[in-house]
Order: sequence, then C-alpha cells, then structure tokens
Amino acid sequence: MALAYAPALESTPVRIAARYDHFIGGRWVPSSSGQTFATVNPATEEELAQVAVGTPEDVERAVAAAREAYERYWRPMRPADRAKFVYRIARAITERSRELAVLETMDGGKPIKESRDFDVVQAAAHFFYYAGWADKLRYAIHGSEHPEPVGVVGSIIPWNFPLLMAAWKIAPAIACGNTIVLKPAETTPLTALLLAEICEEAELPPGVVNILTGDGRTGAALVAHPGIDKIAFTGSTEVGKIIQKTVAGTRKRMTLELGGKAANIVFADAPLDQAIEGVVTGIYFNQGHVCCAGSRLLVQESVHDEVVDKLKARIETLRLGDPLDKNTDIGAINSAAQHAKISELVQSGVAEGAVLYQQSCALPARGFFHRASFFTGVSQSHRIAREEIFGPVLSIMTFRTADEAIEKANNTPYGLSAGVWTDKGSKSMYVAQRLQAGVVWCSTFNQFDPSSPFGGYRESGFGREGGVAGLHPYLSV
Ligand code: NAP
Ligand code: MG
Repeated sequence: MALAYAPALESTPVRIAARYDHFIGGRWVPSSSGQTFATVNPATEEELAQVAVGTPEDVERAVAAAREAYERYWRPMRPADRAKFVYRIARAITERSRELAVLETMDGGKPIKESRDFDVVQAAAHFFYYAGWADKLRYAIHGSEHPEPVGVVGSIIPWNFPLLMAAWKIAPAIACGNTIVLKPAETTPLTALLLAEICEEAELPPGVVNILTGDGRTGAALVAHPGIDKIAFTGSTEVGKIIQKTVAGTRKRMTLELGGKAANIVFADAPLDQAIEGVVTGIYFNQGHVCCAGSRLLVQESVHDEVVDKLKARIETLRLGDPLDKNTDIGAINSAAQHAKISELVQSGVAEGAVLYQQSCALPARGFFHRASFFTGVSQSHRIAREEIFGPVLSIMTFRTADEAIEKANNTPYGLSAGVWTDKGSKSMYVAQRLQAGVVWCSTFNQFDPSSPFGGYRESGFGREGGVAGLHPYLSV
C-alpha cells in the first residue's frame, strides 16, 4: 500500500483571465465571429476561461501577419540578433516556470511534478538549444553554406504536452528565420497563450509568432491556406492522413509526428526491479497520454508471473488524485472524450478475453480519472494490442526468443519508439538494431533531450524534431 501522505498542494500563482483572444501580429485580437469556447480543468470539470474560436478570416489575418513579419523583420535580421530573441524567450520561460507549470496542470490535468520537472524544463531547453543554432546554420546541412528559411510555418499541436509541443515547433522554426502560426489543441490552449505573452515581453517583432486558438476546423483552414510554406503537425495518425491529402499536389512542405504503440521488451536476465520502474514510467507517465508510451509490454515467458506480481504491487503505490498535489503520480485524463475512448478500449479488452488488473484506490468524486491498469492474457489480435489507447493502460504479452520479441514488437503499423531491458549489452544492440522505431531506449524509457532527434517510421509519421535533424525541415538549401 502507498504511505498516507498529507496533501501537499502547489499554490496557484497564476492569473487566469476570463477571456482570451488570438495573438496575431503582436496584438490580442478577438475572433472575427466574436465566438468563444470554454477550456476546463479536467480534474475539477470547472471552466477556466473562454477562448477565441479561430475562423478562416482569423487564419487569413494570422498568415498575413506572419508573412509581413517574415519579409520585413525576421528574414532580413542578422542571425546573431535573431538568436538574442530566442534566448530571451528561453530565459523568460525559466523565470515564469512556476506559473507555466501550474497553468499546464490546471488546463490539462497532468501532475504538477511532471509539468514542473519535465514539460517546462524541456520547453526552455528547446529554446536554449535552438537559439544556439541561429547563427551557425551553415554547419547544419553538409555541403550547404547558406541555408535559407522556408517562409511561413503553420503548426498544429495536440493536448498531451501543450507547452512542450509549442516549443518543439516554435523554437527551431524561428531560430532558422521562419515565422509561424500555431494552433494549440482545443482542450489546452492556455500555456500557448502565456507563451505568446512571453514573446510580447521578449519584444519579439510583431507577427513572428502568432497563436490562433480553435478546434479542428481552425487547424484544417490553416493547413489549406495557400500562404503557408510548411506544415508541422503533431497529433493522431487519422488527422495526419487528412492533412497529407490536403497538402498533396501543393508546394507545401510537411512533417508529421503521429501516434504510436511502442513495445517495451523485458528479457529474463534484466534487473527486474529497475525494469518495472521503466515499465511504470513507460505507460503511466502523463496518464499514458504519450505518443511514445511503452503501451505493449513484451516479457520473456520465464519471468512473466514474477513481473506481473511486481507490477501489481507497484501500481498499488501510485498516488492518483489532485494533479496540483506534489505527491500525485497519476493526474486527470485530459477530457471527457478521451476518458470515454479509454474506457471503450478497456471494455473491448475484457470482452475479447484478456484479464484486467487495476490499482484499487478510490477515484475523486469529480473530474476525469482512470486507474492505472494492465491486461494479461493479451493476444496480438486484440484491439488493446493494436490500437493506441493513449491512457494508463498496458497490454502484456510474452515471448521466448529475442527474434520472437523483435517480430512481435515490429508487428504494428506504428514505429515511434521502443524499449529493451536486458543485462547483456550485446543483446541490447542486437534487438535495438532490428526494431523499426524512431527511438529505442535501452534500460531506460521516455528520456528526452533537445539535442536528440525524435520522430517516427510508417504510420507514426515522418520528419524529425530535436537535434540538428530538427533544423532540416525549416531550412531550404
Ligand atoms: P488530433 O485529434 O489529431 O489533434 C491534434 C491537433 O489537430 C489538435 O490541435 C486538433 O484540434 C487538430 N485537428 C483536428 N482535426 C484537424 C483537421 N482536420 N485538420 C487540422 N487539424 C486538426 O490528436 P489528439 O487526439 O489531440 O492527440 C493525440 C494524438 O497525438 C495521439 O495519436 C498521439 O500519439 C499523437 N502525438 C504524437 C506525438 C509525436 O511526436 N509523434 C506527440 C504527441 C502526440 P482540436 O484539439 O481542436 O481537436
Ligand atoms: Mg483544458
């Protein structure tokens, strides 16, 4: 059982306005339709603010502002001067880190310890890293002395890492001399809007960064706009395919970071207690709302029962509850819709004959919460083994030999990430080299660094973010 801890609530040093407008051309602009929508706190189901609905006219204005900024200020600026602005944004993120962390947790439901120690830290690190590249771009692409920016970038991001995904898009785009229009997800617009405030404080020239809030229709209008030179999308494979169809036949560039169904492979010779921690991080971090989550555990048959027993004991110690409590491990599911999607897939697992285990804690009376869960007796054909659940639900399967593990791990339309746990370095290498995944973590999971490229194979998308490779989509040679 988990030790009973007294509540340790984070204070909320953040002022949330009743209403937010778009940030276009350095000004706060209401929706051309005058319409707004609510963003709620998924842990309390209470409304936090009303946010502007992005219409096609708003998209038009934002793209025009980004184009003007590109031609007038940003492209002609000396790269070393551009770098100063990007560094300023990075510093302001660290200065306002508590505010950003609390707002991220309130708007999206993730535990404060994660937004504080992961999301905000990584977001600042991305800006610092790409600021350093701004005046060194001639070294980014072998054989190209004078790479040029691409132009105006249209970017659409999901709700699982709202600030961090904004940073992944904005930092490399503007460091390379492009300007950007970014649409955050409908359920989590607030930290992107605070980042817009930070851009204002940093005196970034108007129109270099534009934030347009709205739903899928706003995203679709942005993708279709002829004034966009490059689309950078992170989200579901389903929407990624729609975007690909829209962009086909145009001159627009595109990178897609999509879904995943990663295998986390545990060999019998692995240090099992450490591996269990990696399995827990792999699937329960951010309630499993992680594209690279280790959602399929492949465990060597001889240690299956031992691993399952350890995992049963371990999930009982995870603290589920108020995301603003510093002791919370499992926060709120991002939205009612996502909660329903997870519940439906869990029911399908039970109906198809897998065995469900869940932590036994009580759920808070309000808010969207889901217990840490795993299934044993899963077969490769079950939906819970094939479809992305994007929640705190793990599917456990077994294997006997390394080659069987590789075959099962690769038996998925996705290919974003994978994990390998073994005591033997040679076995790690043998397996890692054969896994068709953009990232393979050996004896660890969910490790990130701005200098390390990230991205997928097959239906997990194409293009890389992070590192030198993350500059390439934003440069033309
Ligand atoms: P989603 O439904 O694809 O939404 C992503 C973004 O696209 C949101 O801003 C959404 O707006 C917008 N959108 C919806 N329909 C659109 C359309 N027809 N045209 C243009 N934009 C549209 O994905 P999600 O459910 O929010 O996010 C979860 C997915 O993202 C998962 O599959 C996950 O694996 C993936 N993901 C991938 C990575 C990666 O790096 N590979 C990272 C994080 C997440 P609304 O919010 O208003 O619907
Ligand atoms: Mg919200």
